[in-house]
Amino acid sequence: MEKERTLKEITPKSQDHSQWYLDVCLKAEMADYGPVKGCMVIRPYGYAVWEAMQADMDRRIKETGHVNAYFPLFIPKSFLEREKDHVEGFSPECAWVTVGGGEELEEPLAIRPTSEALICSMYAKWVRSWRDLPVLINQWCNVVRWEKVTRPFLRTTEFLWQEGHTLHATEEEAQEETLRMLQVYRSFSEEVLAMPVVWGRKSESEKFAGALRTYAIEALMGDGRALQAGTSHNLGQNFATAYGIEFLDRNQQRARPWSTSWGTSTRMIGGLIMTHGDDAGLILPPRVAPYQVVVVPIPPRKGDWSEVVLPRAREVQTRLRAAGIRVHLDDRDTQQPGFKYADWEMRGVPLRLELGPKDIEKDQCVLVRRDTREKLFTPQESLEARVSELLAAMQRDLLVRARTFMADNTSRVASYEEFKAVMAERRGFLVAPWCQDAGCEAKIKEETKATVRVFPEGEASPGSCVRCGRPSPQDVYFAQAY
Ligand SMILES: [Zn+2]
Repeated sequence: MEKERTLKEITPKSQDHSQWYLDVCLKAEMADYGPVKGCMVIRPYGYAVWEAMQADMDRRIKETGHVNAYFPLFIPKSFLEREKDHVEGFSPECAWVTVGGGEELEEPLAIRPTSEALICSMYAKWVRSWRDLPVLINQWCNVVRWEKVTRPFLRTTEFLWQEGHTLHATEEEAQEETLRMLQVYRSFSEEVLAMPVVWGRKSESEKFAGALRTYAIEALMGDGRALQAGTSHNLGQNFATAYGIEFLDRNQQRARPWSTSWGTSTRMIGGLIMTHGDDAGLILPPRVAPYQVVVVPIPPRKGDWSEVVLPRAREVQTRLRAAGIRVHLDDRDTQQPGFKYADWEMRGVPLRLELGPKDIEKDQCVLVRRDTREKLFTPQESLEARVSELLAAMQRDLLVRARTFMADNTSRVASYEEFKAVMAERRGFLVAPWCQDAGCEAKIKEETKATVRVFPEGEASPGSCVRCGRPSPQDVYFAQAY
């Protein structure tokens, strides 16, 4: 009965995907709404997921030669204005501080929407010679972009992210860096989040304000809409010029460096939720699950659970912890096991370990996988090995399942009629030729709500535009996007 009550609190995914998403975020205690519209509180359970993601991403960023630093939250107005496209792109969503210490400020301060302006102005001070290059710095911080329509994790006014900012002596190096970080994001998404992506260059209308070229990874959500999950920009020499960054090259000639920036944010948590969750709630890939195993002790019919069951459950917890597995013991004596099962299912814990008097007699325990609900009787002696094996299998299987979903929902269309029909019904990725004209892109968006998500890299495929019939140098991925 308790189980039913919990399950009913979540709107079924098939019935209303958007409400399902909000229910899961709130009921699984991933996030809550803060007092200011669009600002969410990341609750401890959600923050533990972020910490696991952050630790892995940080390792990858450092393995590719970058170091972390921290730059200030405020950007003077005049600094932001130096790169024309950049300020035009970002000023509609900027939050400004005009009063400080009770006095009107001489110059308004922007709360960073991103940090190119500030970081590039510091680089102008630090870089003198070719020996100072490349500069490979990342920062973990919060940024603010005033958003009209917000949703926990997916689009919030304030969010957490990492932003990398690099300087290079040559265009080739900057381009290599841009693509290197895109691949870091792609492998992170697939290996850690079990979230498959398509990747490639963005169209001119979707590129970062001030960039030469923007690249992105895009995942496909359960409702057939795409989620941009990470971006990497080749900024050309635009920012170096605007912020006066110069260096003396090997021939003692004054030269402008090339810069890149790249970022991933708490938005990926939204992608994670929508990629794997089901009607019962979250399903977390083991590599980012705050608890990989939850131990639910089953009290004896008669007598006290603290005599045998609970001490054995603690033993199991200690053993798994010693094996490096994140494990939680649910020893609440106010709830029945059935309620606990549903509760941890909703929170997406990969493995549930049930331990009752009968299991103790047989020197075994019961493991239940969250994704398949498969029940496995496991001898106590091989517990650690079995749990590790199952966690690895689940991590793999989730990626396979998500890949199958993406493949099943990626189609080629022969005509614009078919394009419109697919976008009106099941959506997904559509691969189609496109003329690369911004006016045509705008029409497609107006008529189907779909936008160009990416140009897949390195695939020349001449054809004629799906909408207007003009020549198309290459196929692109279209989708409706978050
Ligand atoms: Zn066209």
